[in-house]
Amino acid sequence: MTLFPVVDDCLTIGGVVVTELARRIGRTPFYAYDAAVMAGRVRELRAALPPGIELHYAMKANPMPEVVRHLARLVDGLDVASARELEIALAAGANPAGVSFAGPGKTGAELAAALAAGIVVNLESAREMERLAALATAAGTRPRVAVRVNPDFELKSSGMKMGGGPKQFGVDAERVPELLSLIGALPLDFQGFHIFSGSQNLDAGSIMEAQEKTIELALRLAVDAPAPVRLINIGGGFGIPYFPGEKRLDVATVGANLARLVAPVRDRLPLAKVVIELGRYLVGEAGVYVCRVIDRKVSRGRVFLVTDGGLNHHLAASGNFGQVIRKNYPVVVGNRVRGAAREVVSVVGPLCTPLDLLADNMELAHAGEGDLIAVFQSGAYGLTASPTAFLSHPAPAEVLL
Ligand SMILES: *Cc1c(COP(=O)(O)O)cnc(C)c1O
Repeated sequence: MTLFPVVDDCLTIGGVVVTELARRIGRTPFYAYDAAVMAGRVRELRAALPPGIELHYAMKANPMPEVVRHLARLVDGLDVASARELEIALAAGANPAGVSFAGPGKTGAELAAALAAGIVVNLESAREMERLAALATAAGTRPRVAVRVNPDFELKSSGMKMGGGPKQFGVDAERVPELLSLIGALPLDFQGFHIFSGSQNLDAGSIMEAQEKTIELALRLAVDAPAPVRLINIGGGFGIPYFPGEKRLDVATVGANLARLVAPVRDRLPLAKVVIELGRYLVGEAGVYVCRVIDRKVSRGRVFLVTDGGLNHHLAASGNFGQVIRKNYPVVVGNRVRGAAREVVSVVGPLCTPLDLLADNMELAHAGEGDLIAVFQSGAYGLTASPTAFLSHPAPAEVLL
């Protein structure tokens, strides 16, 4: 399951043996991200997607500034979800023309920052449109906007649905024509549509179906557009395998099908660029979370490895970030991957809650005090999706290798 070579039974990350990495960083726990793995994902996608499809990075998956700087050079744009992410994107040298800002509840300060930066604002409601237009009038500018559409369909077999039915995201598809006529009368430079239906999907068939419906919907809505459509952001939703039995998403099939799907866009909306926005797929597999065993104890026959890391650093691996049934992330003893003897243990953190679990009844190499535990698939929704203030332990370090 891992993209990280094992040398002399020791895990390496970015070519550095994990024990040496811990020594260099000077403390545990830490997140280590492999830049080459991220670049490999981008390369693989470019090869699979038809020419002309733009690839954006959705920064909330991993907003570490070095990661964003690395990816900003490899992708065509960045999608931000807050004023702070926008700052990080601009500091990373991203071209504002390729930056878009989605998310409900943008504050006045956030809209003003977006206006000043000249990025595309994905409008989430009619009221947000009015507030941005008022700021634009006051500033004498004409910001570029796209309408985020809450589609009239759902992304099937998706980890997290973000469109279809009543949602806080976007404008309901049936109400978009009315909004488009209003945009035409306001100081807003209409670019197109943003239609994001869900996340963490491993099924090529479901993604292809959602993409087909997304493009149909965009073509339908384009009839009422107040200006030529220049942008169709069809979302992403590409998942990564986390658990035993999960298979990699077949991006080659998705890409080949997309070539067919975008043909009518090229015909009917020749100025429109088609964008795919991905977070997890670009960074998730590139990250490893490493913590150290502080204590090894046996309770009524069950072995617990108590570490200095836990759900306060890595909520997702503890199973408390959107999992319905808790499953173990892939975990190994980093400095003894195979080991001489193996045993079934639970890896826990130092918090006073039984939820603080990194591996539950998992077979690992026999380990004890001082050994390093490595959690794979930790490059997305790791540190910044975790309640780091809970119990007031120090935050983990982060390195890009
Ligand atoms: C979170 C989010 C993404 C990224 O989702 P991933 O599952 O990480 O690819 C993309 N677009 C929007 C609008 C999002 O909110």
